[in-house]
Amino acid sequence: RMKEDGKNNYNIFKPSPNSSGIEQLTLENSIRKALREEEFVLYYQPQIDTLTGNIIGTEALVRWNHPTLGLVPPAKFIPIAEETGLIVPLGEWVLRTACIQNQIWKEKGYPPMSVSVNLSSRQFSKQNLVKTITEILHETHIDPQYLELEITESMTMNVEVAIEVLGRLKELGIQICIDDFGTGYSNLYYLKLFSIDRLKIDQSFVRDIMTDSNDADIVATIIAMAHNLGIDVIAEGVETKEQLDFLRSQNCHEVQGFYYHRPLPAEQIEQLLMKTMEIDTKL
Ligand code: C2E
Ligand code: MG
Ligand code: MG
Ligand code: MG
Repeated sequence: RMKEDGKNNYNIFKPSPNSSGIEQLTLENSIRKALREEEFVLYYQPQIDTLTGNIIGTEALVRWNHPTLGLVPPAKFIPIAEETGLIVPLGEWVLRTACIQNQIWKEKGYPPMSVSVNLSSRQFSKQNLVKTITEILHETHIDPQYLELEITESMTMNVEVAIEVLGRLKELGIQICIDDFGTGYSNLYYLKLFSIDRLKIDQSFVRDIMTDSNDADIVATIIAMAHNLGIDVIAEGVETKEQLDFLRSQNCHEVQGFYYHRPLPAEQIEQLLMKTMEIDTKL
């Protein structure tokens, strides 16, 4: 399945297959500059426990606040950042910023929430991922159980290396989630081997739950399998009440999607948290 492309197409972000290396180089240099000038910004999308209605976590999603183009979605620059290796410094910035923000919310007294951060395979294979994360945990004082790393099944990585690195990350006490679950090659054996904490059902299955019985069957099967293996499961891309009801009927109670909230800037997440606290104290 193809991932949905962003709605806005900016030419400089669409190097065509036969485009000159110049365009690619321009974009690479722009990303480098954007990192230096701190033009990247994190949005956070709430993850909801539908049994309580509580926000149990957020997923940090990067955007490029471009001086002339405005807010650029990750689909426009993450692929080039990955190709050029710039995903390593960008990814480190994302990790650090997400941990700092989550810790700020905790220190302000909001109920504990986890923060999920997407990881690229380029970062994963980097020797010092464990070292970087150890430093970030130290610096930010985030409780490691509230940091979740999202990896995908399609990440190209050496199995031995993956076992070793994931094992060391687990020793640090952080959580591991498989993102876009169902779209890659799932070797079920690895779920146990890699001590995965959570599966995130890909939004392409959730989208057609009500219209495609195959997708409904696949979603139901993933949920049942996760439960049998003792792995948590969250559905992403939930947009309608019907999708939500179906997921709940299958005992999937953690969801993320536009039905509840779009990804939001940190200030807006805080407003949501404040509202939730007000409701709690009124009860
Ligand atoms: P993802 O990790 O699977 O993130 C979920 C994407 O689905 C987000 O798009 C989110 O806005 C969107 N989404 C959430 N709920 C709904 C819904 O109900 N309906 C629809 N139609 N879409 C929904 P976004 O923010 O554009 O990110 C796209 C992808 O870019 C992410 O997919 C992830 O693969 C990548 N990405 C984003 N931030 C980072 C990052 O910091 N590092 C890396 N390596 N990749 C990132
Ligand atoms: Mg993700
Ligand atoms: Mg996903
Ligand atoms: Mg868990």
